[in-house]
Amino acid sequence: MCGVFGIHGHEEAANIAYLGMHALQHRGQESAGLVAVDDNRLRRHVAMGLVSDNFNRDALAKLPGRSAIGHVRYSTAGSSELRNAQPFLFEYSGGQLAIAHNGNLVNATELRAELESQGSIFQTSSDTEVIVHLMAKAREPDVLGKLMAALRRVRGAYSLVLITNDNRMLAVRDPNGFRPLAIGRLKDAFVLSSETCAFDLVEAEYIREVEPGEIVMIEKGGMTSHKLAFSAEHVRPTFCVFEHVYFARPDSLVNGKSVYRARERMGQKLAQEAPIAGDVVIPVPDSGVPAAIGYSKESGIPFEMGLIRSHYVGRTFIEPQDSIRHFGVRLKLSPVRSVVDGKRVIVVDDSLVRGTTSRKIVKMLRNAGAREVHLRISAPPTTNPCFYGIDTPNRSELVAASHTVEEIGRYVTCDSIAYLSHAGMMGAVGSESGAGYCSACFTGDYPVALGTSDLVQIRSARAAGV
Ligand code: SF4
Repeated sequence: MCGVFGIHGHEEAANIAYLGMHALQHRGQESAGLVAVDDNRLRRHVAMGLVSDNFNRDALAKLPGRSAIGHVRYSTAGSSELRNAQPFLFEYSGGQLAIAHNGNLVNATELRAELESQGSIFQTSSDTEVIVHLMAKAREPDVLGKLMAALRRVRGAYSLVLITNDNRMLAVRDPNGFRPLAIGRLKDAFVLSSETCAFDLVEAEYIREVEPGEIVMIEKGGMTSHKLAFSAEHVRPTFCVFEHVYFARPDSLVNGKSVYRARERMGQKLAQEAPIAGDVVIPVPDSGVPAAIGYSKESGIPFEMGLIRSHYVGRTFIEPQDSIRHFGVRLKLSPVRSVVDGKRVIVVDDSLVRGTTSRKIVKMLRNAGAREVHLRISAPPTTNPCFYGIDTPNRSELVAASHTVEEIGRYVTCDSIAYLSHAGMMGAVGSESGAGYCSACFTGDYPVALGTSDLVQIRSARAAGV
């Protein structure tokens, strides 16, 4: 989970990139960084934490220039520490280069061991650095050729934005196109963003997606499109369906489709597949809201906000007394008694990972007077971990990997539970057959062969009976 942003050819490049990173903040809150180019030199500012906490007027004033790239990070490979904060900035024989990455490389461990055995010295523990070392070793004369040569060696998920000190910006998506990356225009400037919600904020116009297996290069003369040299036989689009289910912002287009409408359709299909008598449909906010609206529209049962989310919960450092149980969830969510008291409540959530939060929500609603609590999940059971850049827990922690739906229902103590079918979810994103999408965390059918360390994790989980 990460967000990337780029702007090329605008007098307020750093300010615009700052705003873009703000809009992408939901994609990662561990660190934020920005690199701008001016006078043939790259300048960088990175910090742990949120964009708003780390970029003030002074910091932005130290990043002059007409082009910049930004990154917000949630670690999936490499630990949460400042040295792993992106964009990374490197010097190599061709000059300076900065890179921002969304996704996860599945063969980074093997490649890193190979590069280290040949003398490469790594500065971070991030998989992204592997790409930079491969570029530095490539014999091709220019940055485009070096990037192509490097990407020929890596496998997995990457949506990348790069910038050089001679003001060339490159954007690339892997041949599967796991993670989103869109191109827009802001007056004469080109903009790049993981999600289009950033374009809306800076008033840029959405043009199109970077295609799977495509590199776009933006320089003074305009934008050119190139195919990854090896990609013709490898391009097999498998966009991450979880971006639609949960991850992307509902006001974004990802993979060219409205996230909000896809979630609403998931809720409608869920109401068709798993109807239940009830008095009120309530979402688990925020991400469950569009699906709950869809469920309500389809079923004719009124939609209400029966749970309110606090938007001011950061990390909590105080330990609750034993007597204050369910403290963590209660800080984030509170039931609205006047909505649920005496009612048969249908709760719509977009995912159920460990089951512990759902169990607390059910209890909270009963304590607020709910007569019945029926749980409806607008996605299939999450049975497998993601290795392509979403921070799902290990298989052993995924409750659906080792329990039936009935067992999960008993654990969370609801009156009934149902999940959306796989076909229902795929239909909601416009692909009944599932073609064009990865849904491996629901099926175990991984579209790109996993690396050694990932396979070790799967085998040890299976050996433990999960
Ligand atoms: S495994 Fe799941 S979360 Fe990961 S890319 Fe595939 S659909 Fe997305």
